[in-house]
Amino acid sequence: MDASTPKLPAVSHTFHHTFDKICPRQAWHRFIARDLGKQEPTKQMAWGLHVHDALESYLNGEKALPANLQPYAHLYQFPNDYVIRAEVHLGMLENGAPCNFYDDNVWARGVLDVLIALPQRPTCALLIDHKTGKKREDATELRVHAVLLKAHKPELTSIKGWYNWLALNEMGEVHDLSDTDETLTTMRKTHDRISRLLLLGREAFAPRQSGLCPWCPVHSCEFHP
Ligand code: SF4
Repeated sequence: MDASTPKLPAVSHTFHHTFDKICPRQAWHRFIARDLGKQEPTKQMAWGLHVHDALESYLNGEKALPANLQPYAHLYQFPNDYVIRAEVHLGMLENGAPCNFYDDNVWARGVLDVLIALPQRPTCALLIDHKTGKKREDATELRVHAVLLKAHKPELTSIKGWYNWLALNEMGEVHDLSDTDETLTTMRKTHDRISRLLLLGREAFAPRQSGLCPWCPVHSCEFHP
């Protein structure tokens, strides 16, 4: 690898999802070259940020839920003995050991929207992720977060989680996320594929034209309309 080769960023669900499921070229610009400049948030993105900020303050006991989120309060009511933490930043080293989200040698990182500990059952944990877009019941993001959580709490034997679909005002399917070894294997395979492409540079990250191109931030791409 020569000095001009960009550093591979930490594994995250968003990075790997963009590379694997959306477009490798977009992943190159957003996460590796990081040459897109500051993007103005769309209306949908601004709503998503507001939801995450307001729920963080509410669930961490700092502020009341604002009026425009009151209709969703029922999705965030828990038994009194549950211990709730919101926006939990976790990092993991390449050898699977826990570390801080911002550590220089962090290998994987993620932010858990809601982490629920059950004091009566210390080997169990629950995860919730707020979703403000269209419903797509793909548990991959929750699974990656379960891997990070397991690194920090190896005593956990049962991790379950679900998405709260705010546009529908409903809780999604409950996913069993406990098989963190399998998820970690998948994360490592994707990381290895990206590492090999990195040696070849930008052109190895092929554009994948799709119906998502009009919303892509890579305006320099030949497929951007
Ligand atoms: S415009 Fe389409 S093909 Fe080009 S980088 Fe974006 S998503 Fe990929």
